[in-house]
Amino acid sequence: MTHWLSVAVQTPAHSAVAGPLTYRSELPLTPGTLVRVPFGKREVLGIVWALADSPAPGWSEESSRAVSGALDGVAPLTSAWRQLVEFSAAYYQRALGEVALAALPPQLRDLSAVQLARRLKPRPIKSGAADADGPAKLSDPLIATESIALNDQQTLALAEFESKKGPFLLFGATGSGKTEVYLHAVANLLARDARAQALVMVPEINLTPQLEARFRSRFAPLYGGGAVVSLHSGMTNPQRLKSWLAAHSGAARIVLGTRMAVFASMPALKLIVVDEEHDPSYKQQEGARYSARDLAVYRGRLDGAKVLLGSATPSLESWHQSRPAGAGDPGGRYVRLVMPGRIGEAGFPKVRRVDMNHQPMKTVFSPPLLDAIRARIARGEQSMVFLNRRGYAPVLHCADCGWKSECPHCSAFRVFHKIDRTLRCHHCGFTERVPRACPACGNIDIAPLGRGTERLEEHLAELLAGETRPDGTPVRIARIDADTTRLKGALESQLAQVHSGEVDVLVGTQMIAKGHDFRRITLVAAINPDGALFSSDFRAPERLFSLLMQSAGRAGRDAAFITAGASGSEMWIQTFHPTHPLFEALKQHDYPAFAARDLREREAAAMPPFSFQALVRAEARTQDVAQGFLNAASAAAQTELAALPGFDAVMPRITLYGAVPMSVQRVANVERAQMLVESGSRSALQRFLAAWHEVLRQTRSLPAHKGLIRWAVDVDPLTI
Ligand code: ADP
Ligand code: ZN
Ligand code: ZN
Repeated sequence: MTHWLSVAVQTPAHSAVAGPLTYRSELPLTPGTLVRVPFGKREVLGIVWALADSPAPGWSEESSRAVSGALDGVAPLTSAWRQLVEFSAAYYQRALGEVALAALPPQLRDLSAVQLARRLKPRPIKSGAADADGPAKLSDPLIATESIALNDQQTLALAEFESKKGPFLLFGATGSGKTEVYLHAVANLLARDARAQALVMVPEINLTPQLEARFRSRFAPLYGGGAVVSLHSGMTNPQRLKSWLAAHSGAARIVLGTRMAVFASMPALKLIVVDEEHDPSYKQQEGARYSARDLAVYRGRLDGAKVLLGSATPSLESWHQSRPAGAGDPGGRYVRLVMPGRIGEAGFPKVRRVDMNHQPMKTVFSPPLLDAIRARIARGEQSMVFLNRRGYAPVLHCADCGWKSECPHCSAFRVFHKIDRTLRCHHCGFTERVPRACPACGNIDIAPLGRGTERLEEHLAELLAGETRPDGTPVRIARIDADTTRLKGALESQLAQVHSGEVDVLVGTQMIAKGHDFRRITLVAAINPDGALFSSDFRAPERLFSLLMQSAGRAGRDAAFITAGASGSEMWIQTFHPTHPLFEALKQHDYPAFAARDLREREAAAMPPFSFQALVRAEARTQDVAQGFLNAASAAAQTELAALPGFDAVMPRITLYGAVPMSVQRVANVERAQMLVESGSRSALQRFLAAWHEVLRQTRSLPAHKGLIRWAVDVDPLTI
């Protein structure tokens, strides 16, 4: 007997077939089964999406193709998983097959059935041996194997978590013991339910080894080495397949991962933790531009899993969503758990603002900041200085003729990297050796303008020359940014140097401010954070506040390292706007005050979370073509969609802005434009986008827009 199946396969973005394809099969395959099917001239991996009673209209047994085979040994994907994928594809405006197949480990797509069967064969387990693929052993005495007794605020937070349904936002200061609460929540779950699985997400790959070590040391003794697996893009394909299969089979009880892990197949998922939930890296920035944090909350509902978001500086979305009920306001959907105090003696660092208006022109390090750093070097404490710009100088400049190191392919300057004497474009990668003389006028006196971390490090080395540590040896300065950590393992070894105390002053980009547990650092300085105060991006202040709070949280994490008689840990801000409310709130360590003010402004301006946005981006050889396409699709929306049933209620709730060039409008000789769509109603926006997709596709096929290279929709964009 012939069965008709709809099968999700990877189809090109924006192709006419967005949904699953129809195939036939002699066997009645269960939905969720992985199959291999013919597709064009190839055979590809597919997922049985549904069983159909009859073929799609116009299809017959002769014209349709048969499933080549099912992947035996891999259980079907659950209905909750398929619903998650279906929702993601619809919500983020991508093809179902694209999202579904991208959510599987690459090797599952690429291995033949025979190769896969070989991988699935159980290998003999060496008795007592730890998992060979485990993380490098961190011989940190502070990583406890045994459970730590929770303090009062942790106990209260955990009790509320256990007694309510959630979703939860754990608002806990840096070092308040959030991770310990996650560990206990997971421990309780696994002890209570012999099958249950937990998913724990962190924003950065760099943070997974620390976290994995903590989870592994706690849970491997109880549940075996295979109980904890990681899933992130820094793993090799065989490792990823192995982790994925362990999660899918239920053998892995805990999956630790980055945003991609939100799609891990976990049939007994009962808990999802999203650590540092405010972090922008939870948003995928290509293909289906999903927010793993938002999907985690949705997935919790589908799987019946509790969701715990945690942060010291929550996203304003989550903060708003967890607001308590007030007069005339039923409150948010999330339960807010609060842990204000830090563990142990460690107090909050004192925030010191340096008014740069009172410093000589072109001051980079103000004298009081320098003195504070010197004092720490003399005491054997560490300082961290950050500046959000890498390279030596953002521009090279000729004072004679005005030439600047523009990138010939982008509307951006090439950055001067002194170390290898190159000019590098950070947008397209175009790199050249620094010219000996001005390419325009021949002047040999071309000079760097502004500064990046490389120059900052050099400058600091001059200023601190002659300083010595308590043992009489010269001061040691190190830099960590994307340039120094390009090689695999470089970041780990540089971090290890900082941890071991070999470094006295660490210079870097915001990369050093994230999550790392620098116990000996007692001073953090932001050299020039003002840019974000007046940015055109309405989320810039939120990101700055979070960055500064988080970096302040790096300081003084361990009271034991603050020497007797010292002034305690400090966060220094050099600013031309010392009385700005953002810095006032920072000084008080008062996230709620910052959030309340920023949310009031957003409400007044009808910005998210009080409205919902999508961006359509278009790329072409000229701005005219890119913008022309967007404006034409916008005009077509007004005329064509208005006629659809029910859209008389939708269209008035949608605002379509005109097409504008993107902030870096040309990259690698491609012009980029964008158009903002806004609505006070998420569902109206979703209905509009779903219907508009077809209009965009048709507009694109018109001869007038022949020069268009690509277009894509970004729902809930993080940067505008
Ligand atoms: P957060 O995730 O909020 O930054 P952590 O959970 O990492 O905080 O805790 C900070 C430090 O305090 C860690 O070294 C952790 O082991 C320790 N810690 C956490 N909870 C306790 C506790 N109840 N008793 C003693 N030490 C704790
Ligand atoms: Zn010149
Ligand atoms: Zn370029």
